[in-house]
Amino acid sequence: MINLEIPKKFQPLASQANQVATEVFRPISRKYDEAEHAYPKELDMLASLIDGMNEGSDIGGAGAAGVRRESRDDGDGANRNGSNLSTVLGIIELCWGDVGLLLSMPRQGLGNSAIASVATEEQLERYGGKWAAMAITEPEAGSDSAAIRTTARLDGDEYVLNGEKIFVTSGDRAELIVVWASLDPSKGRAAIKSFIVERDNPGLKLDRLEHKLGIRASDTANFILQDCRVPKEALLGSSEVEDKQGFGGAMQTFDNTRPLVAAMAVGVTRASLERARELLAEAGVEIDYALPALSQPAAVSRFLEMEADFEAARLLTLQAAWMADNGKPNSLQASMAKAKAGRTCVDVSLGCVELCGAAGYGEDELLEKWARDAKILDIFEGTQQIQLLIVARQLLGKSSAELR
Ligand SMILES: Cc1cc2nc3c(=O)[nH]c(=O)nc-3n(C[C@H](O)[C@H](O)[C@H](O)COP(=O)(O)OP(=O)(O)OC[C@H]3O[C@@H](n4cnc5c(N)ncnc54)[C@H](O)[C@@H]3O)c2cc1C
Repeated sequence: MINLEIPKKFQPLASQANQVATEVFRPISRKYDEAEHAYPKELDMLASLIDGMNEGSDIGGAGAAGVRRESRDDGDGANRNGSNLSTVLGIIELCWGDVGLLLSMPRQGLGNSAIASVATEEQLERYGGKWAAMAITEPEAGSDSAAIRTTARLDGDEYVLNGEKIFVTSGDRAELIVVWASLDPSKGRAAIKSFIVERDNPGLKLDRLEHKLGIRASDTANFILQDCRVPKEALLGSSEVEDKQGFGGAMQTFDNTRPLVAAMAVGVTRASLERARELLAEAGVEIDYALPALSQPAAVSRFLEMEADFEAARLLTLQAAWMADNGKPNSLQASMAKAKAGRTCVDVSLGCVELCGAAGYGEDELLEKWARDAKILDIFEGTQQIQLLIVARQLLGKSSAELR
Protein backbone atom coordinates (compact mmCIF):
# COMPACT_ATOMS: atom_id res chain seq x y z
CA MET A 1 0.00 0.00 0.00
CA ILE A 2 1.26 3.49 -0.85
CA ASN A 3 1.56 5.64 2.20
CA LEU A 4 3.22 8.94 2.84
CA GLU A 5 4.80 9.95 6.08
CA ILE A 6 3.56 13.11 7.70
CA PRO A 7 6.28 15.78 7.40
CA LYS A 8 8.29 15.78 10.61
CA LYS A 9 7.42 19.39 11.47
CA PHE A 10 3.68 18.56 11.40
CA GLN A 11 3.87 15.43 13.52
CA PRO A 12 3.38 17.21 16.87
CA LEU A 13 0.39 19.10 15.47
CA ALA A 14 -1.22 15.93 14.10
CA SER A 15 -0.66 14.08 17.35
CA GLN A 16 -2.06 16.98 19.43
CA ALA A 17 -5.13 17.10 17.17
CA ASN A 18 -5.54 13.34 17.59
CA GLN A 19 -5.31 13.75 21.36
CA VAL A 20 -8.05 16.40 21.28
CA ALA A 21 -10.18 14.12 19.12
CA THR A 22 -9.68 11.19 21.50
CA GLU A 23 -9.99 12.99 24.82
CA VAL A 24 -12.43 15.81 24.08
CA PHE A 25 -14.46 15.08 20.94
CA ARG A 26 -15.17 11.36 21.19
CA PRO A 27 -16.44 11.42 24.80
CA ILE A 28 -19.04 14.13 24.01
CA SER A 29 -19.80 13.02 20.46
CA ARG A 30 -23.05 11.21 21.21
CA LYS A 31 -24.18 13.81 23.76
CA TYR A 32 -24.28 16.64 21.21
CA ASP A 33 -25.62 14.41 18.46
CA GLU A 34 -28.65 13.89 20.71
CA ALA A 35 -28.81 17.47 22.05
CA GLU A 36 -29.18 19.17 18.67
CA HIS A 37 -28.81 22.99 18.84
CA ALA A 38 -27.19 22.84 22.29
CA TYR A 39 -23.88 24.69 22.20
CA PRO A 40 -20.94 22.39 23.00
CA LYS A 41 -19.46 24.59 25.72
CA GLU A 42 -16.53 22.19 26.15
CA LEU A 43 -15.17 23.65 22.91
CA ASP A 44 -14.59 27.16 24.30
CA MET A 45 -11.48 26.22 26.21
CA LEU A 46 -10.27 24.08 23.37
CA ALA A 47 -10.71 26.89 20.85
CA SER A 48 -8.53 29.16 22.99
CA LEU A 49 -5.93 26.42 23.08
CA ILE A 50 -5.97 26.15 19.28
CA ASP A 51 -5.71 29.96 18.98
CA GLY A 52 -2.62 29.74 21.18
CA MET A 53 -1.18 26.94 19.05
CA ASN A 54 -1.75 28.99 15.89
CA GLU A 55 -0.23 32.14 17.32
CA GLY A 56 2.88 30.36 18.49
CA SER A 57 3.33 28.54 15.21
CA ASP A 58 5.14 29.49 12.04
CA ILE A 59 3.76 26.50 10.16
CA GLY A 60 0.06 27.32 10.23
CA GLY A 61 -2.39 25.67 12.52
CA ALA A 62 -4.93 22.93 12.95
CA GLY A 63 -7.88 25.17 12.17
CA ALA A 64 -9.61 26.59 9.10
CA ALA A 65 -8.37 30.12 9.74
CA GLY A 66 -4.83 29.04 9.00
CA VAL A 67 -5.14 28.71 5.25
CA ARG A 68 -3.76 31.45 3.08
CA ARG A 69 -3.01 31.10 -0.60
CA GLU A 70 0.68 31.55 -1.16
CA SER A 71 1.27 34.08 -3.89
CA ARG A 72 4.58 32.78 -5.01
CA ASP A 73 6.01 29.57 -6.33
CA ASP A 74 9.56 29.31 -5.11
CA GLY A 75 10.52 28.56 -8.70
CA ASP A 76 13.55 26.57 -7.66
CA GLY A 77 11.52 23.41 -7.34
CA ALA A 78 11.56 23.76 -3.55
CA ASN A 79 8.67 22.07 -1.77
CA ARG A 80 6.75 24.01 0.82
CA ASN A 81 4.65 22.19 3.34
CA GLY A 82 2.64 25.11 4.68
CA SER A 83 -0.58 26.08 6.38
CA ASN A 84 -2.92 24.39 3.91
CA LEU A 85 -1.26 21.03 4.48
CA SER A 86 -1.02 21.46 8.25
CA THR A 87 -4.69 22.48 8.38
CA VAL A 88 -5.73 19.46 6.35
CA LEU A 89 -3.71 17.15 8.61
CA GLY A 90 -5.23 18.73 11.73
CA ILE A 91 -8.76 18.48 10.34
CA ILE A 92 -8.34 14.80 9.41
CA GLU A 93 -7.43 14.01 13.01
CA LEU A 94 -10.16 16.18 14.56
CA CYS A 95 -12.84 14.73 12.28
CA TRP A 96 -11.66 11.26 13.15
CA GLY A 97 -13.00 12.43 16.53
CA ASP A 98 -16.20 14.20 15.43
CA VAL A 99 -16.93 16.28 12.36
CA GLY A 100 -19.98 18.04 13.87
CA LEU A 101 -17.85 19.26 16.76
CA LEU A 102 -15.06 20.39 14.44
CA LEU A 103 -17.66 22.44 12.54
CA SER A 104 -18.74 23.95 15.87
CA MET A 105 -15.24 25.07 16.86
CA PRO A 106 -15.17 28.80 17.52
CA ARG A 107 -13.10 30.82 15.05
CA GLN A 108 -12.57 27.87 12.67
CA GLY A 109 -15.47 28.42 10.26
CA LEU A 110 -15.36 28.32 6.48
CA GLY A 111 -15.86 32.07 6.61
CA ASN A 112 -12.53 32.22 8.41
CA SER A 113 -10.92 30.36 5.54
CA ALA A 114 -12.51 32.78 3.06
CA ILE A 115 -11.18 35.75 5.00
CA ALA A 116 -7.76 34.18 5.40
CA SER A 117 -7.66 33.36 1.68
CA VAL A 118 -8.64 36.70 0.15
CA ALA A 119 -8.71 39.47 2.78
CA THR A 120 -6.35 42.41 2.60
CA GLU A 121 -3.90 42.92 5.47
CA GLU A 122 -6.20 45.66 6.86
CA GLN A 123 -9.20 43.34 6.78
CA LEU A 124 -7.20 40.57 8.41
CA GLU A 125 -6.25 43.02 11.13
CA ARG A 126 -9.86 44.07 11.60
CA TYR A 127 -11.65 40.73 11.34
CA GLY A 128 -8.95 38.18 12.20
CA GLY A 129 -9.53 36.28 15.43
CA LYS A 130 -13.31 36.36 15.07
CA TRP A 131 -15.50 33.39 14.25
CA ALA A 132 -16.82 33.67 10.68
CA ALA A 133 -19.51 31.63 8.90
CA MET A 134 -20.05 31.54 5.14
CA ALA A 135 -23.38 32.44 3.51
CA ILE A 136 -23.58 31.70 -0.20
CA THR A 137 -26.63 29.45 -0.59
CA GLU A 138 -30.12 30.89 -1.20
CA PRO A 139 -33.51 29.29 -1.84
CA GLU A 140 -32.99 29.74 -5.59
CA ALA A 141 -29.19 29.39 -5.67
CA GLY A 142 -27.48 26.25 -4.39
CA SER A 143 -25.17 24.52 -6.82
CA ASP A 144 -25.42 27.45 -9.19
CA SER A 145 -23.91 30.11 -6.96
CA ALA A 146 -23.85 32.57 -9.88
CA ALA A 147 -27.67 32.70 -9.56
CA ILE A 148 -27.69 34.42 -6.19
CA ARG A 149 -30.24 37.19 -5.79
CA THR A 150 -29.04 38.94 -2.65
CA THR A 151 -28.11 42.48 -3.61
CA ALA A 152 -25.60 45.00 -2.26
CA ARG A 153 -26.26 48.65 -3.08
CA LEU A 154 -23.70 51.33 -2.36
CA ASP A 155 -25.17 54.17 -0.30
CA GLY A 156 -22.55 56.72 0.75
CA ASP A 157 -19.89 54.92 2.74
CA GLU A 158 -22.00 51.84 3.26
CA TYR A 159 -23.35 48.88 1.31
CA VAL A 160 -26.99 47.98 1.88
CA LEU A 161 -27.65 44.24 1.63
CA ASN A 162 -31.04 42.67 0.93
CA GLY A 163 -31.89 39.01 0.38
CA GLU A 164 -32.17 35.58 1.99
CA LYS A 165 -29.43 33.13 2.96
CA ILE A 166 -30.09 29.52 3.91
CA PHE A 167 -28.05 26.63 5.38
CA VAL A 168 -25.38 28.78 6.99
CA THR A 169 -23.11 26.51 9.05
CA SER A 170 -22.40 28.10 12.47
CA GLY A 171 -24.57 31.02 11.36
CA ASP A 172 -26.17 31.41 14.76
CA ARG A 173 -22.98 31.08 16.81
CA ALA A 174 -20.43 32.89 14.66
CA GLU A 175 -19.48 36.55 15.18
CA LEU A 176 -19.21 37.32 11.46
CA ILE A 177 -21.02 36.07 8.37
CA VAL A 178 -19.32 36.29 4.98
CA VAL A 179 -22.29 37.04 2.70
CA TRP A 180 -22.19 36.72 -1.08
CA ALA A 181 -24.24 39.41 -2.82
CA SER A 182 -24.49 41.05 -6.22
CA LEU A 183 -23.56 44.68 -6.81
CA ASP A 184 -25.61 44.61 -10.00
CA PRO A 185 -27.73 41.52 -10.87
CA SER A 186 -27.88 42.60 -14.55
CA LYS A 187 -24.08 42.14 -14.80
CA GLY A 188 -24.09 38.44 -13.90
CA ARG A 189 -21.32 36.66 -12.06
CA ALA A 190 -18.73 39.47 -12.32
CA ALA A 191 -20.86 41.58 -9.96
CA ILE A 192 -20.95 38.97 -7.18
CA LYS A 193 -18.83 39.97 -4.19
CA SER A 194 -18.46 38.82 -0.62
CA PHE A 195 -19.18 41.08 2.34
CA ILE A 196 -18.37 40.65 5.99
CA VAL A 197 -21.46 41.18 8.13
CA GLU A 198 -21.28 41.33 11.92
CA ARG A 199 -23.65 38.76 13.43
CA ASP A 200 -25.28 41.39 15.65
CA ASN A 201 -26.05 43.70 12.71
CA PRO A 202 -29.75 44.59 13.16
CA GLY A 203 -30.36 44.08 9.43
CA LEU A 204 -29.34 40.39 9.69
CA LYS A 205 -32.34 38.51 11.03
CA LEU A 206 -32.21 34.86 12.07
CA ASP A 207 -35.16 33.09 10.47
CA ARG A 208 -34.72 29.54 11.80
CA LEU A 209 -32.30 26.73 12.67
CA GLU A 210 -32.41 23.49 10.66
CA HIS A 211 -32.99 20.01 12.10
CA LYS A 212 -30.66 17.57 10.39
CA LEU A 213 -29.75 13.94 9.62
CA GLY A 214 -26.13 14.33 10.72
CA ILE A 215 -23.57 16.84 12.07
CA ARG A 216 -26.25 17.66 14.64
CA ALA A 217 -23.72 19.32 16.97
CA SER A 218 -23.28 22.01 14.30
CA ASP A 219 -25.92 24.74 13.97
CA THR A 220 -27.29 25.49 10.50
CA ALA A 221 -29.05 28.85 10.25
CA ASN A 222 -31.31 30.63 7.76
CA PHE A 223 -31.24 34.43 7.58
CA ILE A 224 -33.13 37.33 6.09
CA LEU A 225 -31.01 40.38 5.19
CA GLN A 226 -33.23 43.42 5.37
CA ASP A 227 -31.60 46.78 4.61
CA CYS A 228 -28.51 45.39 6.27
CA ARG A 229 -25.89 48.16 6.29
CA VAL A 230 -22.17 47.37 6.31
CA PRO A 231 -19.19 49.70 5.91
CA LYS A 232 -17.59 49.92 2.48
CA GLU A 233 -14.48 48.27 3.89
CA ALA A 234 -16.50 45.11 4.59
CA LEU A 235 -16.26 44.11 0.93
CA LEU A 236 -13.64 41.38 0.50
CA GLY A 237 -11.40 41.89 -2.53
CA SER A 238 -12.00 44.32 -5.40
CA SER A 239 -15.27 46.27 -5.76
CA GLU A 240 -14.71 46.56 -9.52
CA VAL A 241 -17.68 45.01 -11.38
CA GLU A 242 -16.02 44.97 -14.78
CA ASP A 243 -13.14 43.09 -13.23
CA LYS A 244 -13.54 39.66 -14.85
CA GLN A 245 -11.55 38.20 -11.99
CA GLY A 246 -14.26 39.27 -9.52
CA PHE A 247 -16.35 36.10 -9.35
CA GLY A 248 -13.34 33.98 -10.25
CA GLY A 249 -11.59 35.47 -7.24
CA ALA A 250 -14.49 34.56 -4.98
CA MET A 251 -14.57 31.05 -6.47
CA GLN A 252 -10.85 30.69 -5.80
CA THR A 253 -11.70 30.56 -2.11
CA PHE A 254 -12.98 27.07 -2.91
CA ASP A 255 -9.51 26.00 -3.99
CA ASN A 256 -8.49 26.43 -0.36
CA THR A 257 -11.70 25.29 1.32
CA ARG A 258 -12.55 22.20 -0.74
CA PRO A 259 -9.42 20.34 0.43
CA LEU A 260 -10.52 21.16 4.00
CA VAL A 261 -13.94 19.59 3.47
CA ALA A 262 -12.25 16.65 1.74
CA ALA A 263 -10.07 16.35 4.86
CA MET A 264 -13.20 16.19 7.03
CA ALA A 265 -14.42 13.31 4.89
CA VAL A 266 -11.04 11.55 5.12
CA GLY A 267 -11.18 11.82 8.92
CA VAL A 268 -14.68 10.32 9.19
CA THR A 269 -13.74 7.58 6.70
CA ARG A 270 -10.69 6.60 8.73
CA ALA A 271 -12.71 6.53 11.95
CA SER A 272 -15.24 4.17 10.35
CA LEU A 273 -12.58 1.87 8.93
CA GLU A 274 -10.65 1.65 12.19
CA ARG A 275 -13.73 0.80 14.25
CA ALA A 276 -14.96 -1.70 11.68
CA ARG A 277 -11.56 -3.39 11.72
CA GLU A 278 -11.74 -3.71 15.52
CA LEU A 279 -15.26 -5.15 15.41
CA LEU A 280 -14.29 -7.57 12.66
CA ALA A 281 -11.26 -8.67 14.69
CA GLU A 282 -13.50 -9.23 17.72
CA ALA A 283 -15.64 -11.44 15.49
CA GLY A 284 -12.56 -13.40 14.47
CA VAL A 285 -12.11 -11.83 11.01
CA GLU A 286 -8.47 -10.86 10.52
CA ILE A 287 -7.06 -8.96 7.54
CA ASP A 288 -3.93 -10.40 5.97
CA TYR A 289 -2.12 -7.91 3.75
CA ALA A 290 0.20 -10.63 2.47
CA LEU A 291 -2.67 -12.44 0.74
CA PRO A 292 -4.67 -11.32 -2.31
CA ALA A 293 -7.93 -9.70 -1.27
CA LEU A 294 -10.08 -12.12 -3.22
CA SER A 295 -8.57 -15.19 -1.58
CA GLN A 296 -9.72 -13.96 1.83
CA PRO A 297 -13.23 -13.90 3.37
CA ALA A 298 -15.71 -11.63 1.59
CA ALA A 299 -15.73 -9.20 4.54
CA VAL A 300 -11.95 -8.80 4.28
CA SER A 301 -12.09 -8.31 0.55
CA ARG A 302 -14.73 -5.58 0.98
CA PHE A 303 -12.71 -3.96 3.75
CA LEU A 304 -9.57 -3.84 1.60
CA GLU A 305 -11.53 -2.30 -1.28
CA MET A 306 -12.79 0.43 1.05
CA GLU A 307 -9.33 0.98 2.48
CA ALA A 308 -7.94 1.49 -1.04
CA ASP A 309 -10.63 4.12 -1.71
CA PHE A 310 -9.72 5.81 1.56
CA GLU A 311 -6.03 5.97 0.59
CA ALA A 312 -6.87 7.44 -2.82
CA ALA A 313 -9.08 10.09 -1.20
CA ARG A 314 -6.42 10.92 1.36
CA LEU A 315 -3.64 11.27 -1.19
CA LEU A 316 -5.75 13.50 -3.45
CA THR A 317 -6.58 15.69 -0.47
CA LEU A 318 -2.95 16.05 0.58
CA GLN A 319 -1.97 16.83 -3.02
CA ALA A 320 -4.61 19.59 -3.37
CA ALA A 321 -3.50 21.21 -0.10
CA TRP A 322 0.18 20.91 -0.96
CA MET A 323 -0.44 22.61 -4.31
CA ALA A 324 -2.18 25.51 -2.55
CA ASP A 325 0.83 25.83 -0.25
CA ASN A 326 3.08 26.05 -3.28
CA GLY A 327 1.03 28.62 -5.20
CA LYS A 328 0.15 26.08 -7.89
CA PRO A 329 -3.29 26.27 -9.56
CA ASN A 330 -5.24 23.48 -7.85
CA SER A 331 -8.91 23.91 -8.85
CA LEU A 332 -8.88 20.54 -10.62
CA GLN A 333 -7.19 18.72 -7.75
CA ALA A 334 -9.34 20.46 -5.12
CA SER A 335 -12.50 19.29 -6.89
CA MET A 336 -11.11 15.79 -7.47
CA ALA A 337 -10.23 15.53 -3.79
CA LYS A 338 -13.63 16.82 -2.66
CA ALA A 339 -15.49 14.49 -5.07
CA LYS A 340 -13.46 11.41 -4.19
CA ALA A 341 -13.34 12.03 -0.44
CA GLY A 342 -17.05 12.93 -0.18
CA ARG A 343 -18.20 9.86 -2.07
CA THR A 344 -15.71 7.59 -0.31
CA CYS A 345 -16.87 8.81 3.08
CA VAL A 346 -20.51 8.02 2.28
CA ASP A 347 -19.68 4.62 0.74
CA VAL A 348 -17.21 3.55 3.42
CA SER A 349 -19.14 4.69 6.47
CA LEU A 350 -22.25 2.87 5.21
CA GLY A 351 -20.10 -0.06 4.10
CA CYS A 352 -18.73 -0.35 7.63
CA VAL A 353 -22.25 -0.33 9.09
CA GLU A 354 -23.07 -3.10 6.62
CA LEU A 355 -19.99 -5.17 7.48
CA CYS A 356 -20.62 -4.92 11.21
CA GLY A 357 -24.33 -5.71 10.94
CA ALA A 358 -26.41 -4.96 14.01
CA ALA A 359 -23.34 -3.68 15.89
CA GLY A 360 -22.83 -1.09 13.19
CA TYR A 361 -26.44 0.03 13.19
CA GLY A 362 -26.99 0.44 16.93
CA GLU A 363 -26.53 3.60 18.96
CA ASP A 364 -24.01 1.85 21.20
CA GLU A 365 -21.53 2.39 18.41
CA LEU A 366 -20.53 5.64 16.67
CA LEU A 367 -20.53 3.85 13.31
CA GLU A 368 -24.21 4.64 12.75
CA LYS A 369 -23.58 8.30 13.60
CA TRP A 370 -20.64 8.54 11.21
CA ALA A 371 -22.82 7.09 8.44
CA ARG A 372 -25.31 9.93 9.09
CA ASP A 373 -22.59 12.59 9.40
CA ALA A 374 -20.96 11.49 6.14
CA LYS A 375 -23.59 12.61 3.64
CA ILE A 376 -23.18 16.34 4.21
CA LEU A 377 -19.51 16.06 3.27
CA ASP A 378 -20.68 14.99 -0.17
CA ILE A 379 -23.09 17.96 -0.38
CA PHE A 380 -21.74 21.23 1.00
CA GLU A 381 -18.88 23.20 -0.50
CA GLY A 382 -20.15 21.86 -3.85
CA THR A 383 -21.98 18.56 -4.31
CA GLN A 384 -20.45 15.40 -5.74
CA GLN A 385 -22.11 16.10 -9.11
CA ILE A 386 -20.85 19.68 -9.23
CA GLN A 387 -17.29 18.61 -8.43
CA LEU A 388 -17.40 16.08 -11.26
CA LEU A 389 -18.72 18.78 -13.57
CA ILE A 390 -15.80 21.04 -12.64
CA VAL A 391 -13.34 18.20 -13.19
CA ALA A 392 -14.88 17.46 -16.60
CA ARG A 393 -14.74 21.14 -17.60
CA GLN A 394 -11.11 21.37 -16.62
CA LEU A 395 -10.08 18.17 -18.38
CA LEU A 396 -12.03 18.99 -21.55
CA GLY A 397 -11.15 22.67 -21.56
CA LYS A 398 -14.82 23.72 -21.55
CA SER A 399 -16.29 26.81 -19.94
CA SER A 400 -19.19 26.72 -17.46
CA ALA A 401 -21.47 27.95 -20.28
CA GLU A 402 -20.34 25.12 -22.56
CA LEU A 403 -20.71 22.29 -20.04
CA ARG A 404 -23.40 22.51 -17.36
C1 LIG B 1 -26.02 20.94 6.79
C2 LIG B 1 -25.72 21.89 5.68
C3 LIG B 1 -24.79 22.89 5.89
C4 LIG B 1 -24.52 23.82 4.87
N1 LIG B 1 -23.64 24.84 5.11
C5 LIG B 1 -23.52 25.84 4.20
C6 LIG B 1 -22.77 27.02 4.50
O1 LIG B 1 -22.14 27.14 5.56
N2 LIG B 1 -22.79 28.02 3.60
C7 LIG B 1 -23.46 27.94 2.41
O2 LIG B 1 -23.43 28.88 1.64
N3 LIG B 1 -24.15 26.82 2.08
C8 LIG B 1 -24.21 25.79 2.95
N4 LIG B 1 -24.95 24.67 2.64
C9 LIG B 1 -25.61 24.58 1.36
C10 LIG B 1 -24.96 23.61 0.41
O3 LIG B 1 -23.73 24.12 -0.04
C11 LIG B 1 -25.95 23.35 -0.73
O4 LIG B 1 -26.98 22.55 -0.19
C12 LIG B 1 -25.33 22.70 -1.92
O5 LIG B 1 -24.50 23.60 -2.58
C13 LIG B 1 -26.36 22.19 -2.92
O6 LIG B 1 -27.29 23.17 -3.23
P1 LIG B 1 -28.85 22.86 -3.15
O7 LIG B 1 -29.15 22.22 -1.84
O8 LIG B 1 -29.60 24.07 -3.53
O9 LIG B 1 -29.09 21.73 -4.24
P2 LIG B 1 -29.30 21.93 -5.86
O10 LIG B 1 -28.31 22.87 -6.37
O11 LIG B 1 -30.75 22.25 -6.03
O12 LIG B 1 -28.99 20.50 -6.33
C14 LIG B 1 -29.87 19.37 -6.11
C15 LIG B 1 -29.22 18.14 -6.73
O13 LIG B 1 -29.01 18.35 -8.15
C16 LIG B 1 -27.64 18.16 -8.46
N5 LIG B 1 -27.25 19.12 -9.52
C17 LIG B 1 -27.42 20.46 -9.50
N6 LIG B 1 -26.92 21.03 -10.63
C18 LIG B 1 -26.42 20.00 -11.35
C19 LIG B 1 -25.76 19.90 -12.62
N7 LIG B 1 -25.52 20.99 -13.33
N8 LIG B 1 -25.39 18.69 -13.05
C20 LIG B 1 -25.62 17.58 -12.32
N9 LIG B 1 -26.24 17.58 -11.12
C21 LIG B 1 -26.63 18.79 -10.65
C22 LIG B 1 -26.88 18.43 -7.18
O14 LIG B 1 -25.64 17.79 -7.17
C23 LIG B 1 -27.84 17.86 -6.15
O15 LIG B 1 -27.65 16.48 -6.07
C24 LIG B 1 -25.18 23.70 3.62
C25 LIG B 1 -26.10 22.67 3.41
C26 LIG B 1 -26.39 21.79 4.41
C27 LIG B 1 -27.41 20.70 4.15
